[in-house]
Amino acid sequence: MISIKDFRMSSQRNKEIDTTLPILKRDLGYIDFQFSEFPHIVGKIYKDSSEVYADFNVSVFIKENCSRCLKDMIVHHSVSISGVLSNDEIMQEDEDVILTQEDMLDLEHILDMALIDYAPSKLLCKSDCKGLCKNCGADLNTTTCSCNIMDENIDPRMQILKDLLKK
Ligand SMILES: [Zn+2]
Ligand SMILES: [Zn+2]
Repeated sequence: MISIKDFRMSSQRNKEIDTTLPILKRDLGYIDFQFSEFPHIVGKIYKDSSEVYADFNVSVFIKENCSRCLKDMIVHHSVSISGVLSNDEIMQEDEDVILTQEDMLDLEHILDMALIDYAPSKLLCKSDCKGLCKNCGADLNTTTCSCNIMDENIDPRMQILKDLLKK
């Protein structure tokens, strides 16, 4: 928590921020994040004669699974969050506003803002990940299974037809 009130009254015009948040998971309700290391927030708050602004970069390492082979993987997500600080919820509609409560800035709120736009399109441990065999579940990156030989997705009805033709 950073007191914006104190910063407003101080003679400082800038306040540098470089901190890690000691949390390894964050549940946003619709999505549950797990981090491989503490989220890192770097930036500053600064002011002019009327307003206080913030300019942060948030860096998180999110634990994920490859969408093909399910192997654990880490996705680095780095986002810039900046805007004018305000206690006024009505102003929140404006996306350049960072909401504070009673002139306190909660850095966990900054983390949440950075996580909201996290939407990886396709998570692959490597671009040519071969995935798992649909039949036996073997990891086709590290092994070849015997299903591979007949893996032509033959419809059983087609197989019967094929067998008939052979006669
Ligand atoms: Zn994979
Ligand atoms: Zn298989």
